[in-house]
Amino acid sequence: MNLFQFQHATSVEDAIQKVVATGGKYLAGGTNLVDLMKGTVEQPPALIDLRRLGLTNVVSTDEGGVLIEAGVSNSAIANHPLIRSQYPVVSQSILSGATTQLRNMATAGGNLLQRTRCPYFMETGFEACNKRIPGSGCAALEGFNREHALFGGSYKCVAIHPSDMAVALAILDAVVHVQGASGKRKIPLPEFFRLPGDTPQIDNTLHPHELILGIELPPSGFGRHSWYLKVRDRHSYAFALVSVAAGLEMNEDGTIRRAALAMGGVAPMPWRVRDAEESLVGKFATAASFHAAAELALAGASSLSQNGFKIDLGKHSVVRTLRLASSGPQSR
Ligand code: SF4
Repeated sequence: MNLFQFQHATSVEDAIQKVVATGGKYLAGGTNLVDLMKGTVEQPPALIDLRRLGLTNVVSTDEGGVLIEAGVSNSAIANHPLIRSQYPVVSQSILSGATTQLRNMATAGGNLLQRTRCPYFMETGFEACNKRIPGSGCAALEGFNREHALFGGSYKCVAIHPSDMAVALAILDAVVHVQGASGKRKIPLPEFFRLPGDTPQIDNTLHPHELILGIELPPSGFGRHSWYLKVRDRHSYAFALVSVAAGLEMNEDGTIRRAALAMGGVAPMPWRVRDAEESLVGKFATAASFHAAAELALAGASSLSQNGFKIDLGKHSVVRTLRLASSGPQSR
């Protein structure tokens, strides 16, 4: 680990000013950033500690939704009564990730900002990683790519985004509140993440020095019928090979009024599958309609040398997630 300055921020404005002045990075839970610093993947000249800012509440909004402030721990989000009752898919997604100790430290804002766990990115002994060293190449294209993207990759990077929570947030139309030197703004989640294209070193659309203040969830009709399924190599402390978040609104006659479906582990960002969602509207919650949606969800998938298995795995996961979501709260 390289030498760096460590400063406490006393307010949001103070934090922004200190990051601008030092060229440093914000430090919240540190569960990803500090790991990357230990491996010299990240070498910021300064860390600006945010833990005295507060930003640790989950509050109801005037619109009937919820605002999760950026400093709320992942454990606190997952166990909060408002989240458990109105957005259970968020609780499920968080509890499927990491460990209790990590969830106690990791924050809402940090969860969105965590970086890919592509081994060539994480290990500086590998020379070719465009995300870590722009222009150096992408070792995963011809190397170990079993866990890499089926959608949204480019010839410069095929890494996936590792967050479980973000996949659940994607079906809830979450909005990210941020503040920078020029003021506050709100970024809808699909516009927060970006695909790698020619610049895979840039993961999101935050402006330099912008700080995440919170994540707003609009009112949701998915409280009774939602599910997050995570498929991985071992049952705990592993990232998703494939994950699926599903939310359904059901009519009294048993047909589906509205569906939202997103996949994780398959793209550089939570991957919303709108054709599959639309195919479900007006249909009964049957195996046939779920299989048809699964085919649409994985249509257009582009596999690499080692990750073709994720196409069938993804289809089965979509079907299973929709079945569990449609079954209602008794499934949880
Ligand atoms: Fe680096 Fe992306 Fe290629 Fe992985 S997939 S080696 S993160 S450029």
